[in-house]
Amino acid sequence: MRIGHGFDAHRLVEGRALMLGGVRIPFDRGSLGHSDGDVLAHAIADALLGASALGDLGSRFPDSDPRWKDADSMELLGQCADAVRSAGFTVVNVDATIVVERPKLAPFIQTIRENVASRLGIEPTCVGVKAKTSEGMGYTGDGTGIAAHALALLSSVA
Ligand code: MG
Repeated sequence: MRIGHGFDAHRLVEGRALMLGGVRIPFDRGSLGHSDGDVLAHAIADALLGASALGDLGSRFPDSDPRWKDADSMELLGQCADAVRSAGFTVVNVDATIVVERPKLAPFIQTIRENVASRLGIEPTCVGVKAKTSEGMGYTGDGTGIAAHALALLSSVA
């Protein structure tokens, strides 16, 4: 068994879509980023890469590379899952927490879980996604940004 951790944060700005686990969340701001800024997809991808010691998302898909401009982060997550499988691992489960004051994410959590599960080739029952506020404190509390934490557990195929 191998465990990995991922973290990501993005600035919330007007004129951008808020993408979380491939779901476009209706909101007056979205995450600023070179890709589509999907903070959840990025955190989970880094957890997978961390567990398999395959580096990190930023070195795989650098934000200096125009190929990844406005990239679909769920597609990048799928590529990371493929890399993890090629290295001889299967994904057992992932668990993630999104930290943002607004919008409320409860109505979207199930769809997000299904999207992530589909990209990882696992069952939605093996994907935990929670949303938390930081009670008004800090950049996730004052609306400046959004953050996500993730853990991934991998099992050796051999
Ligand atoms: Mg990111």
